[in-house]
Parts: sequence; C-alpha cells; structure tokens
Amino acid sequence: MMNNGGLPRRIDHLGRIVVPVELRRMLGIKAGDELEIAVRDGAITLTKAGRACAFCSGEEKLHSYREHWVCSDCAGALADLADHGQDDRLAASG
Ligand SMILES: [Zn+2]
Repeated sequence: MMNNGGLPRRIDHLGRIVVPVELRRMLGIKAGDELEIAVRDGAITLTKAGRACAFCSGEEKLHSYREHWVCSDCAGALADLADHGQDDRLAASG
C-alpha cells in the first residue's frame, strides 16, 4: 500500500513503528537519538530533535522564536534586513 511514494510500515499493538533504515541513514538518525513528533496538515511528522538554527543549522547562541531556533548571527542578519531592506552580509559573501 504505497501512498505519496512513502515507505509502508505497519504500526504494532503498542503503537510503535520502525523508521526505515534508508530514512535513518539519509537523515543521520542513530539509535538513541530523539525525534520530535508533531501533526502538521493532518500528517504525523518526525523531526530530529536537537537545537539548530532554522537558517544556517548552526547550534550555537540559539534563541527560540515562534517554535523555531534562530542563532544570534542570523537574528542579527534578519534585524539588518528589517532595518535596511537587504542582507548586507549575505550580499557580500555571495
Ligand atoms: Zn543561523
């Protein structure tokens, strides 16, 4: 029973499900890792837990904003963007 190209997995009597090894490898999920379970648009989503900036994936100097993590550097860049209408740092580096 394939649906949306997804990998079919049967849930067991305790409500458990195996995350396919292909997906674990793809996302670097190892035994003991924490996953966050949420419902979005009627679908259950599993997100690798751990704090990382939503923009640069950095793990330092993080702040929480509207259920996302944002590092100080990106928060500063966003503030500049709000102040000046463009991101000077990204424009300079790219
Ligand atoms: Zn960042």
